[in-house]
Amino acid sequence: MTLDDQPGPSGGIFTPALLDACISCGFCLPACPTYAETKDEASSPRGRITLMRALEAGVLPPDDPTLAEQASQCLGCRACEPVCPAGVQYGQLLEEWRDHQWDGRQRPLVVRALTLVVSRRWLVRLMGRLRRPGPGGGRSGPWLMLGCFERALFPRVSRAALRLRPELTAPDRQGCCGALHAHNGDSATGERLARELGRDLPGHIVTTAGGCAAHLSHVLGRDRVSELSEYLVANAHVPAARVLAEGRPARVGLQDSCHLRNGMNVTKEPRQLLREVSEYVELASAGTCCGAAGTYSLLRPKESRAILAAKLDEIEAAKLDYIVVLNPGCQRQLQTGVRRRRLTTRVLHLAEILDRAQDPGSAAME
Ligand code: SF4
Ligand code: SF4
Repeated sequence: MTLDDQPGPSGGIFTPALLDACISCGFCLPACPTYAETKDEASSPRGRITLMRALEAGVLPPDDPTLAEQASQCLGCRACEPVCPAGVQYGQLLEEWRDHQWDGRQRPLVVRALTLVVSRRWLVRLMGRLRRPGPGGGRSGPWLMLGCFERALFPRVSRAALRLRPELTAPDRQGCCGALHAHNGDSATGERLARELGRDLPGHIVTTAGGCAAHLSHVLGRDRVSELSEYLVANAHVPAARVLAEGRPARVGLQDSCHLRNGMNVTKEPRQLLREVSEYVELASAGTCCGAAGTYSLLRPKESRAILAAKLDEIEAAKLDYIVVLNPGCQRQLQTGVRRRRLTTRVLHLAEILDRAQDPGSAAME
């Protein structure tokens, strides 16, 4: 049975122009990590778009198990977008798919719990206060967005960013940007939270989280949002010293943030900054997903670890002193992986390694 045999009524689930854009050429297949793992067409971007079309046309019922499996198995890394000759906005399609597939009680329990927590502004502030984020309370921008998970798990990242750029203001009243909601079946709340944050932080917003940067710039506009490396390069930031390890320039690799790379095309800036402070080593897998993928490492831990394993092999073979990240999810994923493997490589956010480079004394002591 083909889609042509079963035109069916429109489901109104997807924006028609987004779904129609795919020409089924398959150029995206080699870029897709889940296709690389499975070699199954259904686990590829083209296969998933075919499933979306079948859902939209009523050829497959909404409770079809392949639909449920593939909506969950996709990392949402958007590596299929930059390689697509037809300009398919796969990330947008995935949000629309999950809005439908993960509606209400269909949404995984862990996702429901996390989105509920970060929707409560007082709870986000409390998490941040307990972990002592950077100084807040200023009244004018440019603003540093603290991020809900970053302020809870890695508050030292915002402290480092504020030491690097004291002109940034980081009020602790700010809430979640809504990226978590948008990527996990509630794009309406994701958009509302981004707009609220835009009102709370009027003017230019700088973030240290690639996933938040991509979502926020999608809702508020590209000119309102910079990821930290972009902001530093645009403001001609000059590190004071190189970061050393055992008396030599540290060997440093980078893990791109998928949404920053594939959604905002920010790749050169973090590399430029790292080359200025270290012996930079470009990993072959730097641009591919580490398996964190928002809630993916919680929802599908086995697949998440399998995706990370090859990256850890590469980090180990490259004898890196540091692997640098641009997103808190990647930081948690790589820290966990490095600890399990007992590698000596340390995981730092870009803000943290650049902060070390501002203090020649501390950099040289490594
Ligand atoms: S998503 Fe793009 S690259 Fe992939 S099959 Fe469709 S048109 Fe081709
Ligand atoms: S978002 Fe990532 S995992 Fe999902 S189809 Fe695209 S490349 Fe594959």
